[in-house]
Amino acid sequence: MKPLIGITRGERLDDYVASIEQAGGAAVVLDPAEDPAVALAGVGALLLTGGADVDPARYGQAVHPTTDIDAIRDRFEIPIARAAVAGDVPLLAICRGIQVLNVAAGGTLVQDLPSLVGGAVDHAIETPKDAHAHDVRITPDSRLTAMLGGGARAVNSRHHQAIDVLAPTFVATAAAADGVIEAIERPEASFCLGVQWHPENFWRSGEFAALFEAFVRSARR
Ligand code: MN
Repeated sequence: MKPLIGITRGERLDDYVASIEQAGGAAVVLDPAEDPAVALAGVGALLLTGGADVDPARYGQAVHPTTDIDAIRDRFEIPIARAAVAGDVPLLAICRGIQVLNVAAGGTLVQDLPSLVGGAVDHAIETPKDAHAHDVRITPDSRLTAMLGGGARAVNSRHHQAIDVLAPTFVATAAAADGVIEAIERPEASFCLGVQWHPENFWRSGEFAALFEAFVRSARR
Protein backbone atom coordinates (compact mmCIF):
# COMPACT_ATOMS: atom_id res chain seq x y z
CA MET A 1 0.00 0.00 0.00
CA LYS A 2 1.21 3.49 -0.82
CA PRO A 3 2.03 5.77 2.12
CA LEU A 4 -0.79 8.26 2.73
CA ILE A 5 0.43 11.86 2.74
CA GLY A 6 -1.91 14.46 4.26
CA ILE A 7 -1.66 17.83 2.51
CA THR A 8 -3.14 21.02 3.91
CA ARG A 9 -5.87 22.62 1.84
CA GLY A 10 -4.80 25.60 -0.29
CA GLU A 11 -5.76 27.32 -3.49
CA ARG A 12 -3.78 25.24 -6.03
CA LEU A 13 -2.77 21.76 -4.98
CA ASP A 14 -2.22 20.03 -8.35
CA ASP A 15 1.59 20.27 -8.32
CA TYR A 16 1.80 19.07 -4.69
CA VAL A 17 -0.37 16.07 -5.53
CA ALA A 18 1.67 15.31 -8.68
CA SER A 19 4.96 15.52 -6.72
CA ILE A 20 3.68 13.15 -4.02
CA GLU A 21 2.26 10.66 -6.54
CA GLN A 22 5.44 10.74 -8.64
CA ALA A 23 7.40 9.90 -5.46
CA GLY A 24 5.19 6.87 -4.80
CA GLY A 25 2.79 8.32 -2.22
CA ALA A 26 -0.96 8.83 -2.15
CA ALA A 27 -2.11 12.38 -1.36
CA VAL A 28 -5.17 13.22 0.72
CA VAL A 29 -6.29 16.83 1.23
CA LEU A 30 -6.96 17.56 4.88
CA ASP A 31 -10.12 19.43 5.91
CA PRO A 32 -9.19 22.42 8.12
CA ALA A 33 -12.49 21.98 9.99
CA GLU A 34 -11.30 18.61 11.25
CA ASP A 35 -9.67 18.05 14.63
CA PRO A 36 -5.90 18.35 13.99
CA ALA A 37 -5.03 15.32 16.13
CA VAL A 38 -7.61 13.14 14.35
CA ALA A 39 -6.43 14.35 10.93
CA LEU A 40 -2.79 13.60 11.80
CA ALA A 41 -3.61 10.13 13.11
CA GLY A 42 -5.11 9.24 9.72
CA VAL A 43 -1.99 9.90 7.63
CA GLY A 44 1.58 8.63 7.42
CA ALA A 45 3.13 12.05 6.90
CA LEU A 46 2.14 15.71 6.74
CA LEU A 47 2.80 18.22 3.94
CA LEU A 48 2.18 21.87 4.85
CA THR A 49 1.44 23.76 1.62
CA GLY A 50 1.82 27.38 0.46
CA GLY A 51 -0.69 30.17 0.92
CA ALA A 52 -1.35 33.42 2.78
CA ASP A 53 0.42 34.77 5.87
CA VAL A 54 0.41 33.51 9.46
CA ASP A 55 -1.33 35.87 11.93
CA PRO A 56 1.57 37.77 13.62
CA ALA A 57 -0.37 37.55 16.90
CA ARG A 58 0.81 33.90 16.85
CA TYR A 59 4.36 35.15 17.40
CA GLY A 60 3.61 38.24 19.45
CA GLN A 61 3.78 40.97 16.79
CA ALA A 62 1.43 43.62 15.43
CA VAL A 63 0.14 43.20 11.87
CA HIS A 64 2.28 44.82 9.15
CA PRO A 65 0.23 46.64 6.43
CA THR A 66 1.33 44.07 3.81
CA THR A 67 0.40 41.01 5.91
CA ASP A 68 -2.54 39.01 4.55
CA ILE A 69 -3.75 36.60 7.24
CA ASP A 70 -5.48 33.24 6.78
CA ALA A 71 -6.91 32.61 10.25
CA ILE A 72 -8.86 29.48 9.26
CA ARG A 73 -5.70 27.77 8.05
CA ASP A 74 -3.71 29.00 11.11
CA ARG A 75 -6.29 27.46 13.46
CA PHE A 76 -5.77 24.04 11.90
CA GLU A 77 -2.18 24.12 10.70
CA ILE A 78 -0.38 25.45 13.77
CA PRO A 79 -1.72 22.71 16.08
CA ILE A 80 -1.23 19.95 13.49
CA ALA A 81 2.36 21.09 12.84
CA ARG A 82 3.01 21.14 16.58
CA ALA A 83 1.54 17.64 16.97
CA ALA A 84 3.61 16.29 14.07
CA VAL A 85 6.81 17.66 15.62
CA ALA A 86 5.87 16.33 19.07
CA GLY A 87 4.92 12.89 17.71
CA ASP A 88 7.82 12.68 15.22
CA VAL A 89 5.40 12.31 12.29
CA PRO A 90 7.32 13.00 9.05
CA LEU A 91 6.71 16.58 7.97
CA LEU A 92 7.59 18.54 4.83
CA ALA A 93 6.74 22.25 4.91
CA ILE A 94 6.67 24.42 1.78
CA CYS A 95 6.56 28.26 1.54
CA ARG A 96 3.74 29.30 3.93
CA GLY A 97 4.35 25.84 5.40
CA ILE A 98 7.91 26.60 6.54
CA GLN A 99 6.55 29.76 8.17
CA VAL A 100 3.72 27.86 9.90
CA LEU A 101 6.24 25.25 11.10
CA ASN A 102 8.66 27.84 12.47
CA VAL A 103 5.89 29.74 14.31
CA ALA A 104 4.30 26.52 15.62
CA ALA A 105 7.69 25.51 17.04
CA GLY A 106 8.29 28.88 18.72
CA GLY A 107 9.99 31.06 16.09
CA THR A 108 9.08 34.37 14.43
CA LEU A 109 8.78 35.78 10.89
CA VAL A 110 9.92 38.80 8.91
CA GLN A 111 6.57 40.20 7.76
CA ASP A 112 7.73 42.06 4.66
CA LEU A 113 11.06 41.25 3.02
CA PRO A 114 11.25 44.21 0.58
CA SER A 115 10.88 46.87 3.30
CA LEU A 116 12.52 45.06 6.23
CA VAL A 117 15.42 43.18 4.61
CA GLY A 118 15.96 45.20 1.43
CA GLY A 119 15.79 44.40 -2.25
CA ALA A 120 19.21 42.80 -2.86
CA VAL A 121 17.46 39.58 -3.89
CA ASP A 122 14.03 39.58 -5.53
CA HIS A 123 12.00 36.89 -3.72
CA ALA A 124 8.76 37.67 -5.58
CA ILE A 125 9.05 36.22 -9.09
CA GLU A 126 5.46 35.08 -9.63
CA THR A 127 5.66 33.68 -13.18
CA PRO A 128 6.55 31.31 -14.59
CA LYS A 129 6.03 29.31 -11.41
CA ASP A 130 9.21 27.28 -12.07
CA ALA A 131 11.38 30.32 -12.90
CA HIS A 132 14.88 30.21 -11.45
CA ALA A 133 14.53 33.32 -9.30
CA HIS A 134 17.68 33.16 -7.17
CA ASP A 135 20.26 30.74 -5.81
CA VAL A 136 20.26 29.23 -2.34
CA ARG A 137 23.38 27.95 -0.63
CA ILE A 138 22.76 24.59 1.04
CA THR A 139 24.60 23.85 4.30
CA PRO A 140 26.99 20.88 4.22
CA ASP A 141 26.17 17.95 6.55
CA SER A 142 22.43 18.65 6.31
CA ARG A 143 19.55 16.39 5.30
CA LEU A 144 19.02 18.70 2.36
CA THR A 145 22.57 18.17 1.13
CA ALA A 146 22.11 14.40 1.44
CA MET A 147 19.01 14.63 -0.77
CA LEU A 148 19.87 17.36 -3.25
CA GLY A 149 23.63 17.73 -3.06
CA GLY A 150 25.33 20.67 -1.38
CA GLY A 151 26.48 24.05 -2.63
CA ALA A 152 24.47 26.49 -4.72
CA ARG A 153 21.09 25.58 -6.14
CA ALA A 154 18.74 27.68 -8.29
CA VAL A 155 15.20 27.89 -6.89
CA ASN A 156 11.94 29.65 -7.63
CA SER A 157 10.68 32.29 -5.19
CA ARG A 158 7.21 33.70 -4.50
CA HIS A 159 7.20 34.92 -0.93
CA HIS A 160 7.19 38.29 0.80
CA GLN A 161 7.75 36.87 4.29
CA ALA A 162 10.47 34.61 5.70
CA ILE A 163 11.83 33.21 8.95
CA ASP A 164 13.27 35.76 11.36
CA VAL A 165 14.05 34.08 14.70
CA LEU A 166 14.51 30.37 14.10
CA ALA A 167 12.51 28.02 16.35
CA PRO A 168 14.43 26.13 19.06
CA THR A 169 15.61 22.61 18.04
CA PHE A 170 15.71 23.66 14.35
CA VAL A 171 18.71 24.57 12.20
CA ALA A 172 18.79 26.69 9.02
CA THR A 173 20.14 24.58 6.16
CA ALA A 174 19.84 26.90 3.15
CA ALA A 175 19.98 30.67 2.68
CA ALA A 176 19.79 33.19 -0.15
CA ALA A 177 22.59 35.71 -0.83
CA ASP A 178 20.78 38.38 1.24
CA GLY A 179 20.77 36.08 4.29
CA VAL A 180 17.09 35.11 4.01
CA ILE A 181 16.58 31.59 5.41
CA GLU A 182 15.36 29.28 2.63
CA ALA A 183 15.36 25.90 4.41
CA ILE A 184 15.18 24.53 7.97
CA GLU A 185 15.47 21.08 9.50
CA ARG A 186 14.99 19.49 12.90
CA PRO A 187 18.06 17.25 13.20
CA GLU A 188 16.62 15.01 15.93
CA ALA A 189 13.45 14.24 13.93
CA SER A 190 13.12 11.29 11.55
CA PHE A 191 12.02 13.75 8.85
CA CYS A 192 11.12 17.36 9.62
CA LEU A 193 12.13 19.82 6.94
CA GLY A 194 10.88 23.10 5.50
CA VAL A 195 11.76 24.98 2.33
CA GLN A 196 10.84 28.55 1.43
CA TRP A 197 10.74 27.90 -2.32
CA HIS A 198 8.25 25.72 -4.25
CA PRO A 199 9.93 22.41 -5.18
CA GLU A 200 6.52 20.96 -6.17
CA ASN A 201 6.44 23.22 -9.26
CA PHE A 202 9.37 21.24 -10.73
CA TRP A 203 7.78 17.78 -10.79
CA ARG A 204 7.93 17.68 -14.59
CA SER A 205 11.71 18.27 -14.72
CA GLY A 206 12.29 16.27 -11.54
CA GLU A 207 14.73 18.85 -10.17
CA PHE A 208 13.61 18.27 -6.59
CA ALA A 209 12.21 14.74 -6.96
CA ALA A 210 14.79 13.42 -4.46
CA LEU A 211 13.23 15.61 -1.75
CA PHE A 212 9.74 14.19 -2.27
CA GLU A 213 11.09 10.64 -2.61
CA ALA A 214 12.91 10.87 0.74
CA PHE A 215 9.79 12.38 2.34
CA VAL A 216 7.44 9.67 1.04
CA ARG A 217 9.96 6.95 2.04
CA SER A 218 9.97 8.33 5.59
CA ALA A 219 6.17 8.19 5.93
CA ARG A 220 4.54 5.76 8.39
CA ARG A 221 2.80 2.87 6.67
MN1 MN B 1 13.30 33.23 -1.94
